[in-house]
Amino acid sequence: MKQPRTLVVGAGIAGLALVRALRDQGLDAEVVERDPDWRTTGAGLYLPANAVRALERLGLGTELARRAHPVTRQRMLDHRGRALADFPVRAVWGGVGDCLAISRADLHDLLRSAVGDSAVRLGTGVASVDDAGTVTFADGSSETYDVVVGADGAGSAVRRSAFRGAEPRFLGQICWRFLAHEDPAAPPVTDWTARLGSGGRTFLTVPLGDGRLYCYADVNSAEPVAPAGDWRALFADFAGPVPYLLEQGVDAYFAPLSEIDDTDWARPHAVLVGDAAHACSPSMAQGGAMALEDVLVLAELLGGAVKAGTAAGTDIGAVLSAYQARRADRVRWVLGQNRRRDKARNLPTPVRNLTLRLAGERLFKANHAPLHAEA
Ligand SMILES: Cc1cc2nc3c(=O)[nH]c(=O)nc-3n(C[C@H](O)[C@H](O)[C@H](O)COP(=O)(O)OP(=O)(O)OC[C@H]3O[C@@H](n4cnc5c(N)ncnc54)[C@H](O)[C@@H]3O)c2cc1C
Repeated sequence: MKQPRTLVVGAGIAGLALVRALRDQGLDAEVVERDPDWRTTGAGLYLPANAVRALERLGLGTELARRAHPVTRQRMLDHRGRALADFPVRAVWGGVGDCLAISRADLHDLLRSAVGDSAVRLGTGVASVDDAGTVTFADGSSETYDVVVGADGAGSAVRRSAFRGAEPRFLGQICWRFLAHEDPAAPPVTDWTARLGSGGRTFLTVPLGDGRLYCYADVNSAEPVAPAGDWRALFADFAGPVPYLLEQGVDAYFAPLSEIDDTDWARPHAVLVGDAAHACSPSMAQGGAMALEDVLVLAELLGGAVKAGTAAGTDIGAVLSAYQARRADRVRWVLGQNRRRDKARNLPTPVRNLTLRLAGERLFKANHAPLHAEA
């Protein structure tokens, strides 16, 4: 039975994980990456239990446990460091499994090792894809594939051309991310800790082990651009250890936050996974998990179809549609919950604080409950 000739566009979390998942199904894929070198932007990632579970399904659990750091509690404080909510991640995730934190570079390196560098053609951008699966590369050359997978992130060229899909929508928030080392004179940061200020300001720290921290700060903004001046002044009224950490944030990665919603992800010869399909607010830290779950489902359906003898003919579009149908509700839930949480940030401060004190754990639990089931 002939396998579909498959091109994966983009070697980020989704693209690399997809190659691994396809191989587990006995399928091959070509991979192209626009960047001429391996690099990662962003600083760290919190991996909730469903992301960890997906990486385990890819056979990467042992290596992940070696490189990542366990996160056992989630704490919310006000900007002066007073407790608003504090609960074990097990209260949110039950028996789904552990939650972990890892640097972006480590996760990317882990996925690269799992796939092998020779599998990826670096410095090869895709300019467009047409309805017949013909890909035009940035150098003007073209090739035709049975399946073109857009794993090319929020600004996806595959989505723009093959799907004529939605542009990312700015969410009215901007953020900065950086890695820092802890203040040796202060108590160690052992938990996922979000400090909430007024004006939608959040400063999050997540321990990465060995005294390293992933720091994430965001604030409301009318425009998707960095404000003039030193961004760190926006968090000057936050209590320790924030001032110590901000000293190390001079070269932080800046990003406006956006989402993609309401776009199709499946065409007869093209399909979208990860941020290309549904980039979302990092509020629930579900972007990585959704990308990993996407690729497991897509690979399972393609693998099943090839084994059943349907994928090499005209039925491939039906397989891709089945992938979207299986994923859509879960992704829609995450996007909806993100929006609800982002709205709650802007409640008057006393109302927000009281809500978190009285119901923080319960709200987090309800937020995540549908994600306990396998994708
Ligand atoms: C501020 C912030 C914080 C976040 N925090 C978390 C977190 O804590 N936990 C979590 O799970 N998720 C988090 N996320 C979400 C997570 O980063 C994304 O969901 C995830 O990186 C998506 O991976 P991807 O592979 O789909 O896309 P990307 O990581 O964007 O990868 C796309 C790849 O495609 C390549 N590419 C692009 N265009 C082309 C082209 N035309 N041709 C060839 N290659 C191309 C790019 O160079 C890139 O390598 C966060 C996101 C943001 C913005």
